[in-house]
Amino acid sequence: MKKRIVILGGGESGVGAALLAVSKGFEVFVSDNGRLKEKYRDVLSNAGIGFEEGRHTEERVLGAEEVIKSPGIPDDVPLIGKIRKKGIRMVSETEFAARYTHAPKICITGSNGKTTTTLLTCHILQRAGLNCGLAGNVGTSFAWKLTQPACEIYVLEISSFQLDHMYDFRAETAVILNITPDHLDRYGYRFDEYVRSKFRITRNQRPQDALIYNADDPVIGRELKNQDIRAQLFPFSIRNRLTGNGAWLEDNHLVVNIDSNRFTMTIDNLALQGKHNIYNSMAASIAARIFDIRKDPIKESLADFQNIEHRLEFVARIHGVDFINDSKATNVNSTWYALESMAAPVVWIAGGIDKGNDYSVLYDLVKTKVKALICLGRDNKALIRAFSDLLERIVETTSMEEAVRWASYIGRPNDVVLLSPACASFDLFENFEDRGNQFKEAVKSL
Ligand code: ADP
Repeated sequence: MKKRIVILGGGESGVGAALLAVSKGFEVFVSDNGRLKEKYRDVLSNAGIGFEEGRHTEERVLGAEEVIKSPGIPDDVPLIGKIRKKGIRMVSETEFAARYTHAPKICITGSNGKTTTTLLTCHILQRAGLNCGLAGNVGTSFAWKLTQPACEIYVLEISSFQLDHMYDFRAETAVILNITPDHLDRYGYRFDEYVRSKFRITRNQRPQDALIYNADDPVIGRELKNQDIRAQLFPFSIRNRLTGNGAWLEDNHLVVNIDSNRFTMTIDNLALQGKHNIYNSMAASIAARIFDIRKDPIKESLADFQNIEHRLEFVARIHGVDFINDSKATNVNSTWYALESMAAPVVWIAGGIDKGNDYSVLYDLVKTKVKALICLGRDNKALIRAFSDLLERIVETTSMEEAVRWASYIGRPNDVVLLSPACASFDLFENFEDRGNQFKEAVKSL
């Protein structure tokens, strides 16, 4: 008898898992209580995989021997409780996928910078001639990737929601970029739960494995003491010169040192500017050096990497005002780095769905850099409450077009208009890409 697998969620993860599971000979059924995107519906139909949408038929789901849960489904929905109660094993798509490859994996997690660092790491490895598979939260799911021709190494972006249901997964190389409050609504508003979830990436690591982490992050530092880490440690820091393995700054130079073999590079040559990107560049360089990539391809890649859309993306200069799209800044910490890297007075567009934000960490930057705040969200109360004492000018808007018009009206030559919302986008937009694209269109039609 074929083992029966039910997959909850028919998006990128779920459909990838379904394709992989079928190719491994399982009996597969996909159940999604929302509507599937046409693309995914077609893939499932063409592969002859059974699915349902708009509902979960309980007896089918509970008849599974194993459930693969997509990361978008919260743990507190009743069906998940029933699956648990019945004792059915429930794993994430990444856990399932990892059973089917022996290739080493560089696994990147953190609250911010995952996508950037994952792409940058893969860019370096490819330049060095490795057949590197890019997967996870960025683009193709890991399971889907494994239905394609094999790669010699995988670089994976891994979210905390994937980590929550990983048990036997082993990250030969793990990267923790930073841990700051995000998604607390999914963790019972308990930051410590979220921190523990991120650290699951170190579970099952062995002494020959590597943990690359941000030594400037106090949360990571604290949690490292609570955890029994078996992997070799590779810290990186902007604040302190480290000794031993890792990466740090010396007189404006990035230093990467692995087993006394070091290379340096001036930070002016980094393609990705801003403090946060120095961290990302350090993490990617250490990962590459662990895989014995030579210095030259690393330096060349750090210098010519093309920044990705919606992350501090320059859009246009109009009447002397620069417009910058940082729509991917969906939490306070990413907005902190955006504001920190601004050199000119900022007209700041922010707002959306507040995930329990503490805006006070932005106060100093807002006081010194922001001249006006344009709120763009259905409910702007929290933002207005946080900043009304600091800013003379706060405007409320409910569409991107309106927000950009206001921004261009307020902006003077040599100002910057920065869209860096610190909030999720789902109140007024489909997702952060849609929000960023609407921003760019509105700017172009000015
Ligand atoms: P993620 O995949 O973790 O969401 P991205 O690379 O897509 O991360 O970047 C998300 C947002 O965070 C962008 O606004 C980006 O400018 C900012 N950011 C990127 N790297 C970092 C970092 N290391 N620390 C803080 N913010 C960052």
